Amino acid sequence: MKQNKAYLTIKKTTPKKRDAQKRITDFNPTYYIFNKDEAQNQSLRCLKCPVDVLKGMTSEFSFCRTGCPLENKIPLWIEQVKNGNIKEAFKYSNETSPFPEILGMVCPQDVLCQGACTITQTETGSVTIGAIEVYLNEQAFKMGLIPDYGQKIEKTTKKVAIIGSGPAGMSCATFLLRAGIGVDMFEKSDRPGGLLTYGIPNFKIQKDVILRRFNWMQEAGLNLHLNTDISNSKQIKNMLDNYDAIFVALGAPKSKNANLKNEDAHGVYHVMDILKHAQKRVFQDFYEAILEDKNIVVIGGGDSAMDAVRTSVRMNAKSVRCVYRRDEHSMPGSRKEVINAKEEGVIFEFNTAPKEVIVNEKYNVKGLICQKTELVEVKGQKRKKLNVIQDSDFVLECDIIILALGFDNFIFPWYDTAEINTGKWGEIIVDENKRTSNRRIFAGGDSVRGADLAVTAAADGRKAAYTIISDLTQ
Ligand code: SF4
Repeated sequence: MKQNKAYLTIKKTTPKKRDAQKRITDFNPTYYIFNKDEAQNQSLRCLKCPVDVLKGMTSEFSFCRTGCPLENKIPLWIEQVKNGNIKEAFKYSNETSPFPEILGMVCPQDVLCQGACTITQTETGSVTIGAIEVYLNEQAFKMGLIPDYGQKIEKTTKKVAIIGSGPAGMSCATFLLRAGIGVDMFEKSDRPGGLLTYGIPNFKIQKDVILRRFNWMQEAGLNLHLNTDISNSKQIKNMLDNYDAIFVALGAPKSKNANLKNEDAHGVYHVMDILKHAQKRVFQDFYEAILEDKNIVVIGGGDSAMDAVRTSVRMNAKSVRCVYRRDEHSMPGSRKEVINAKEEGVIFEFNTAPKEVIVNEKYNVKGLICQKTELVEVKGQKRKKLNVIQDSDFVLECDIIILALGFDNFIFPWYDTAEINTGKWGEIIVDENKRTSNRRIFAGGDSVRGADLAVTAAADGRKAAYTIISDLTQ
């Protein structure tokens, strides 16, 4: 077989970015979408690793498909993009993924599909899978193509309730609708999309992209109930009486605390409150200045911390610092987000641990006492140990502190009524088919895994949908 060596001669390119000084003045997208030439050119670099032979192979070999939690058939749609056949590419892309154009924007590809790409270890680097995925779907939408939500098949009499409209719920609804199963979705917020809408800033994903998917689903029969909190046992009993199955996709809604002295002072916020507030301002629901002209310190090193620092910059903060306990190399989030934040003027305080919030007489934040840290090798352990350096205290003066330290599960009181078992972290226990201890209730996403990625939530939603379809159609 003739080997494709185009990856050696065609340079890897990523989507162009807006100039940092311009993009910090608004919440519009950071990246441009590939044009046709860019997408086709980058598609030429794909080696076309065979998708079915490699399915499930994870040990010594890694390929794009094994790195993608949805096991998307990536080489198939890349080949179609290369040939200029958007219709076929769209079909393959949407077959396994419930919202590929969204995941192409929000997935940390460097640790997923692109991290596993066969040519990722070469000097030229991986195929830019996520950017091609976004391009082909946006191109298809421009051509008037609409995703399959079972529009053309006969509906069954079966009905499923989905609690939560984030990525897990959206994914489950997609595959149920495709099978002709009715879906009622319940969302406590005023807009659908969960974390995609209120937890990821507009400059990473614009909300009309998410609402577009909901519009199509509603046109195909989805009953979406917004501002509807499912929080008590009576509601669950009613659901069990009126639906054939329930899918729980409530996320991990509890922000972690830092357990610092004075952490409840005025001016200390959890990251989700800030991100939601910023997004509501983008929606023009209201105007309230929180971060303007303030010195901000964000504690944390993951993607939520990067979202918070970049949001603060756009809210005209006077200064924005990120405090992270380990070194830059150990940061858990996406590398490109750290680069974006630096370009936008964020100052990083690495090897720095927060110790105490300083307050004034009105209990307002005045600063943060920090300590320097060091990482030390421990024999037999991969992860270095973190030591706090004695007498290294120093003060970061600030007006606002944002805690971006991750999220915990919340045990809803109705879990007992529904006979759903939970684990020691409050996570819902499911089997490999996403079934809980109650045969008719399924769960997925962060409510099962703890805080994780949109794409893993999407994979859970799809798996649960397949199990429900199998249960209801036998
Ligand atoms: Fe890559 Fe995410 Fe798309 Fe899978 S869903 S191919 S991991 S960008």
